[in-house]
Formats: sequence, structure tokens, C-alpha cells
Amino acid sequence: MSAALFDAALEKGAAGRRLNADEAFALAAEITPGKLHQLGRAALQNRIQRFGMRATYVFNVQINPANICGAGCTFCNYAASRNAPHAYVLSEDQILEKVERLKPTEAHIVSGLNQVWPFERNLALVRTLRQRYPRLHIKAYTAVEIAYFAKTSGLSVKQVLERFRDAGTDALPGGGAEIFSERLHRLHWPNKIGPRQWLRIHRQAHELGIPTNATMLFGFGDTWQERIEHLLRLRQAQDSSGGFVCFIPLAFQPGEGKFVEHGPTPLETLAVLAIARLVLDNIPHLKSYWPMSGVETAAAGLSWGADDMDGTISEEKIAHLAGARTPVGLAREKMEETIKAAGFVPVERDGRFRAVDGGRR
Ligand code: SF4
Repeated sequence: MSAALFDAALEKGAAGRRLNADEAFALAAEITPGKLHQLGRAALQNRIQRFGMRATYVFNVQINPANICGAGCTFCNYAASRNAPHAYVLSEDQILEKVERLKPTEAHIVSGLNQVWPFERNLALVRTLRQRYPRLHIKAYTAVEIAYFAKTSGLSVKQVLERFRDAGTDALPGGGAEIFSERLHRLHWPNKIGPRQWLRIHRQAHELGIPTNATMLFGFGDTWQERIEHLLRLRQAQDSSGGFVCFIPLAFQPGEGKFVEHGPTPLETLAVLAIARLVLDNIPHLKSYWPMSGVETAAAGLSWGADDMDGTISEEKIAHLAGARTPVGLAREKMEETIKAAGFVPVERDGRFRAVDGGRR
């Protein structure tokens, strides 16, 4: 029965038609060595129909103002207590110097939950960036941070979002979703918002005209059932609010002495990308995130449904403090070579997925 559903799901998914929940679950139930490559081919077919052989990337910087955070998420190697040896706090000058030096197309700003960089200070940073760089795409603060800013400022989530939007925020990143599982929420990140609140904040952002991304952390004790449920909840949320632009599966990095020895295998990462491409018919873009999966696996992901390789990201901190062995940045030329070697046509994009300079080729 499940094999028949799997075949039906592949046929519909490859043609870009919506899978029902049983078909979505059948994709994961039938992941065997023999079927894995059929799955990849269906996702590639779907991807080619949408994007041809184009594969995009953005010239971006990560800005992580401070890693001080007491939320204590079990999987986090980025956060530090105030006096820990790897704790750091950037100043406005350091951040602005980096942006001035690199002149990125997009700034991706995320941080820990702390009062060293409270709401008003972050708001002022966005305002300054907007004033100095009118064309910079500012993708700033996860739903987790937005909830924290609301709690600590006495404002509502809506007011916090409005203030950021008015200061110059273009979009929200997709982090902090982890996986939409109450079981894993209780176990691994009980001190920060869970699935329902994360989805509610994204819906509020969409209602205010702020587009957002969505992520899913996988490979840390989650089940395929939970992964498919995550995708289906996201698809349902997108049906009602329509503001998700890109989905980014994040392959777990175990870091030092953590509770699982290995993150997901490359094939598992590719299977997650392929299933996401087939299930999320209503979220336009699918990102193969190289800082966490590795450059080679991320490039292979372009043949498993992904259409975007994220960015050049100078000095990425979050995945690397979690033990990622990938480079801390990729130059434009290296990014283009990588995409070409994978058989695709590199296209540099802006924060809204439009080709920059009308496309370089
Ligand atoms: S994942 Fe985010 S909220 Fe959790 S401990 Fe790390 S920095 Fe803090």
C-alpha cells in the first residue's frame, strides 16, 4: 500500500501537483537505497520545471551582535554565559565597519537572547543600516528574538514587528523553528517559544507585509514522522498567510560531546531536501545550506530539489561554533565554480531572489 502511495507521490510531486498527507508520509516511509534515487529524480524534475538549471546565491554577511544567551537549548554551541571564554559582544562600530568593508547585498542579523543588545539597541542598528545603505536587504531577528524583545520591552509582538519594519527591516529569517514537535520542544528548548508561537509570529509578520523564511532542524533525534508533520504544518500556514519565501532544512551539527554522535548523513540531507521540494508546493524557494551540510552536499542538493545555495556569508559563526567543518565564507568565484561543477547555471541574486544587475549572464 505504502509502495503504491510512494509511486503516486513521486508522479504527482514531479509534476508539481499537491501531495495529500498520506502521500507525503509515504515518501518518508519508503526511503530505501533502491527508492532514494527515484525520490531525488522526482525532486529534480519538479525543480527544473520551476527554475530550469538556474541556481541562485546571494552576496551576504552574517551579523551576530552577541552570543550571550541563557535559554539553554540543548543543541546550541553558539550561546555563551556572560563570562564564558567564547562569549563576545560586538559594538555598533565593529558591525558597521564590516558592512562598509564588504558592501553586501544582504545582511542576515541574528543573535542570542540577552540584555547587552536589547530591543532598542537592535532597533537603532537596523535604523542606522537602513539610513547608510538604502539598498541593503536587511533580514533580521528570528521569531524567537521577536518574542523575547516583546517580553522584555513590554510591547506586543505586533508592535515590535511594526517598529522593525518601520526602521527598515525587509524580512525575517527562518531560524528558531527547530522542528514542529512538542515532544522535542519540551526536551531540547523548553525556555524559548515552541511551534505554535513560532508559526503565530510568522503569520503576524506576513499580515504586516514582512516576508519570512522557514527552517527545520533535523538529525538530532527527530523522526521522519515529525519531519513530515513539520512540512505539512508549514504548507498549511503558507496556504493561509502566503508570506514564506524560502524553506531551509538545517542538518544538525553535534558539536563537542553532545547527545548524538553524528549529524545526518549526506544522503539523509539530500532526502530531506527532495521531500521538502515535493511537499512544499506553495513555498517558492528551497535552500541547500552549505555551512551546515558541507559545500559538496549542498551543491549535490541542487540536483535534489534545491534552487538556492544561500550566500557567500563571510565569517559565519553559528554553525561553526557548533563544530561545522565547512569554510567560514565562500568567495563569489568559488560559489560560482561550485554551482557550475554541479551542472547548474549560477545566478547572483538579491534578498528578494531577483537576479542582481539584471543577471550577470
Ligand atoms: S539556540 Fe538561540 S535561544 Fe537557544 S541557546 Fe542558542 S542562541 Fe540561545
